[in-house]
Amino acid sequence: MAVTIVNGLSWGDEGKGKIVDLEAKSADVVIRFSGGNNAGHSIKNEYGEFALHLVPAGIFNPDAINIIERGVVIHLPSLMGEMQELLRNPDVSFQKFKISPFAHLVMPWHIAEDQGYEKEAAQNIAGRATEAIGTTLKGIGPCYKDKAGRWEAFRVCDLVSKKAFLARLEKVYASKAKWLRARFQVELPSFDAVRTQFLGAREYVLPYIADTSHIIQEALAADKSILLEGAQGTLLDPDHGTYPNVTSSPTTALGALMITGIPSSAVRRVIGVTKAYVTRVGAGAFPTELSHELDEKLRNIGKEFGATTGRPRRCGWLDLPLLQYAVAINGTTEIALTKMDVLGQLPKVQLGTSYENGVSGAPDMTRLSEMKPAYEEFAGWGNLAGARTRADLPDEARRYLERITAICSIGHVSIGAGRTETLTM
Ligand code: GDP
Repeated sequence: MAVTIVNGLSWGDEGKGKIVDLEAKSADVVIRFSGGNNAGHSIKNEYGEFALHLVPAGIFNPDAINIIERGVVIHLPSLMGEMQELLRNPDVSFQKFKISPFAHLVMPWHIAEDQGYEKEAAQNIAGRATEAIGTTLKGIGPCYKDKAGRWEAFRVCDLVSKKAFLARLEKVYASKAKWLRARFQVELPSFDAVRTQFLGAREYVLPYIADTSHIIQEALAADKSILLEGAQGTLLDPDHGTYPNVTSSPTTALGALMITGIPSSAVRRVIGVTKAYVTRVGAGAFPTELSHELDEKLRNIGKEFGATTGRPRRCGWLDLPLLQYAVAINGTTEIALTKMDVLGQLPKVQLGTSYENGVSGAPDMTRLSEMKPAYEEFAGWGNLAGARTRADLPDEARRYLERITAICSIGHVSIGAGRTETLTM
């Protein structure tokens, strides 16, 4: 059986889109398994440049079945918008696109709740219960909250019966509108507007709802090649990441299996994607974070601004203890290292190799903010344009890669956004 998982090894934005796009060329089934339209995968291939948020990156392979699995939360207007945008390209087809009936729906009240909590926390309102998390304000956390709660959740399968859906929509709308008004003094759009929006979206997505579990099990039985596409990164996993500054659904390789119902014995490759440096959006511990001036420099060279929110990303050196932790959690079999071209443009590069405060190996995640990294220094390796194999890389770049290989072998090194700017090691 040939299941490949691609997921992020740090705090998201590792360049997974590019690696999934490369791997999806030879996949029979591509599955997005978690997260919502808070994720943004940027892809540059022969069809053009795309920012995908919900649609699996395998959509550019006309022979692949593309699935949104049950662990994803779907904001229907965003999904429709994304599909319509992709369909402007005559080579893209949604004929083999499937949506799990068990995926949950992001409702207007989820967005209002997300915005309510984050705004309240940011304004330092007296008596506030929490710090701002730095969410994308897209309602993702509240949707997963209702999924766990069960009482007021909506799933894709609820759309099938129009009558039952509308009856329940009206009831839950009334309950949520009342709560939001009392809790955050905000008003939802009118029920008529919500109703109209859902009726339109319902018509649009009904043809894509399918028993995806059956499709996956059949593909496994037929020994097809299945690619599981992660969103966000391991350090944003709610259980294994830097809680509470994390996302609300699993981001790890085992999370992918849990959601898709694929047994671990079927997995052949676990590709962990990391940039040659590290970025993080929003608050939270970041041991190798750069000083202000260097941070700004790397951010500008690497264009490190959120694909979904435009927010500037904090930049830091690659942190080997944290990388080792992520590799261990995921059972990563190979690393895909992106943006080597960007890092090499700095005159000097540092690599966090251990923590000074006596911590060796993988870090104690309960004390991450106290960790002081020890660094090894490298001279910047400059322009990598035109390199095709490892042998084409400057000595200093090769030395850098060797230090990472001590943790896990490297499968791909990416030296630019395009498909061809990739060295297969
Ligand atoms: P994802 O969510 O993990 O897919 O990450 P992003 O969508 O934020 O992708 C990172 C960005 O870097 C995108 O704009 C990619 O096109 C770009 N990119 C990916 N790999 C490389 C690389 O090796 N070098 C450069 N210069 N850009 C890259």
